[in-house]
Amino acid sequence: MLVATRRIIYFMVWLYACSVIANESQDASSQELAGEQFMVANTLWTLLHETAHVVIDELDIPVIASEEDVADQLATIALLGHNPNFDLPDSVTQIESVIAAATAWRVEWELEQWEGAEVAYWDSHSLSIQRFYHMMCLLYGNDPDKYEAVQEQLGLPYEHVLGCVDAEYERAHRAVKWIIDTYGRQQDSAAPHGNVSVVYEKPLTDEHKKIAATINKAGIAELVAKHVEGTLAMPNDITIVFTSCFSGATAFWHSERKEIVMCYELLARFLYLYKAKQCLEMKGVTDEKIEACLARTQN
Ligand SMILES: [Zn+2]
Repeated sequence: MLVATRRIIYFMVWLYACSVIANESQDASSQELAGEQFMVANTLWTLLHETAHVVIDELDIPVIASEEDVADQLATIALLGHNPNFDLPDSVTQIESVIAAATAWRVEWELEQWEGAEVAYWDSHSLSIQRFYHMMCLLYGNDPDKYEAVQEQLGLPYEHVLGCVDAEYERAHRAVKWIIDTYGRQQDSAAPHGNVSVVYEKPLTDEHKKIAATINKAGIAELVAKHVEGTLAMPNDITIVFTSCFSGATAFWHSERKEIVMCYELLARFLYLYKAKQCLEMKGVTDEKIEACLARTQN
């Protein structure tokens, strides 16, 4: 295995040791609970990523960069502010959501390495491992003292982490502030604005039923809907739809229907990635054992 990959794994073990998610004991039920929290945290970050596409599209904000990179940045910054404004359920914090989402991208990359998958350099999204590093850069830039170990553990050059504070975090933070200052909803204004609603379409499998119940109970989609409604003067009504997609584990903004579509298959993928992470982090075992663990996890 690549030295850099080992380094990332050791770092994520350290990072998780700092979070509630990793403080669960290792028995099956607590593992299941930790997996559900990982799924909820990733769903929240993904909802915000798709919301960023909505904001860019509906408010016609010019973007001079990859829109996917911008959406990653806006979603991450929305969770990293010094004044958290999402009233999240007790099971997950905003910082944990960022760490969980970054971890998911790191695990996706490592799985691609194990499977020898072709690297999609042509894709509109940055590579999974780049998305991981970009998010960790923003995490560090948000609070360099608290996340001092990010630089050393990830082996980031000093000049680069300096840029995480001044260039990456501050620039992204300023962009979010500009959007809110420019398109923010005036609380005392009677001007019309779009509402955001949430729909859970009927899940078709037992696994998806359980996922829908967990996400519904966590209430994170309703929190995002309330936050968008209260913060921005959106021109149209928008619906967040959880549904079976059949076409794959994805989420997307459907501009014509004004829907953020969240596939149950993607949420199931988050649960799988949490289990795959356990396999990849096994210590003192051969690559064959990790391979066997990953194969068991897929069943
Ligand atoms: Zn996107």
